[in-house]
Amino acid sequence: MPRDRVRMPGGGYAVVCAPGRRRRCSVCGNLGASKLCDGPPPPGSRRKTCDAALCVRCAKTAPGRDTDFCPRCAPTAPELDQLPLDGIKEG
Ligand SMILES: [Zn+2]
Ligand SMILES: [Zn+2]
Repeated sequence: MPRDRVRMPGGGYAVVCAPGRRRRCSVCGNLGASKLCDGPPPPGSRRKTCDAALCVRCAKTAPGRDTDFCPRCAPTAPELDQLPLDGIKEG
């Protein structure tokens, strides 16, 4: 039995951890997540990093580095503190 099922709006279930190359973004749910969060793992996890799948839109990438963070981990990422505050564009 699949462990991680998500109920779809139209009825039925989708398996989150389905085999295949296309990963689903853990933030917006779109297929095509090409990044993994490099933030700290959840408490109790045996992983080394958060590993949340992220698409390019949802990943918070540290400037000049190849590290990406999910919105949950971004506040804890010292790399992101180097962002110029007046250079951020919301939207
Ligand atoms: Zn996304
Ligand atoms: Zn994360």
